[in-house]
Amino acid sequence: MRRFVLVAALVSLMLAPVMAWSAPRVVVSIAPVHHLVSGVMQGVGEPTLLIPPGASPHHYALRPSDMRALQAADVIIWVGPELESVMERPLQSVPGGVTQVSLMKAPGMTLLPTREGGIWDKHDHGHGDDHNHGHNHGHDHNHGHDHGHAQHVEKDAHIWLSPDNAAAIVRQTRDTLSERDPSNAPSYAANAEALLERLQTLDASLRSQLSAIGDRPFIVFHDAYQYFEHHYGLTPAGSITVDPSRAPGAQRVRELRQRIVGSDAICVFSEPQFEPRIVRTLTEGTTARSGVLDPLGAELPTSPDSYFRLLENLAESMVTCLTN
Ligand SMILES: [Zn+2]
Repeated sequence: MRRFVLVAALVSLMLAPVMAWSAPRVVVSIAPVHHLVSGVMQGVGEPTLLIPPGASPHHYALRPSDMRALQAADVIIWVGPELESVMERPLQSVPGGVTQVSLMKAPGMTLLPTREGGIWDKHDHGHGDDHNHGHNHGHDHNHGHDHGHAQHVEKDAHIWLSPDNAAAIVRQTRDTLSERDPSNAPSYAANAEALLERLQTLDASLRSQLSAIGDRPFIVFHDAYQYFEHHYGLTPAGSITVDPSRAPGAQRVRELRQRIVGSDAICVFSEPQFEPRIVRTLTEGTTARSGVLDPLGAELPTSPDSYFRLLENLAESMVTCLTN
């Protein structure tokens, strides 16, 4: 009897870590995608977030611990070299058994061409004049947006800002995880179903909020919102490239003010990392108001709810600034 108890205790000790291992180790590149993936994995496990939400994925430098996380992963989910160019090389050296998912290639993903020229400043987060957004100044190799690929049309990599694309991310995550970890497939399916339903509700609510401002022109400091604008029929009047940490020179200020005035923009949207003083400098003497948009949700906790909050915040900022 005693021996039986001992054996039972040993067996449960041996099983315990097996249970804990049963969730695949999933590494996700950016916060908005991490919110969705953690929603699909709810009750099964917790994915690891690679790039902190306050840092720009365009310019992040991987730390040794990030490299270790990539090496130890079962599944790695990222947008693609067009966004997290810094991951391109490390991903070539992860073990062969790792499942790599580039969301730019996910089935059902809407892809729009990158905008450039005319009212769209080059999507350059600052190599020419050393302006970076986010952390990590001076990291300047292999930037995905502004060199190479001259022959084919580059696709805009800010894919996560439309609910349809979020649904494609959820489905792709569900399918990938179910294949990798069939024992938890029913959980992934149920979680995905709940997320997809919630995305539809969110979409309907945003559509009705945004319908009132569909024809109001605005300018952004970073051309990151094309999928959102396209999905909700908004009227962007262009983008301007500004250093978030340093006021532009007098000549550049004059030029940008003219652009703002000429565009009839009601609102000029910066991002959280911009000094309010810089925004004021540019809108001074124009009729444009200023607002803030946050494409990554720098302040949001890592949680499935945060994806929904991120889009609600975008809509709220736009409606507030563009109304009246
Ligand atoms: Zn960008």
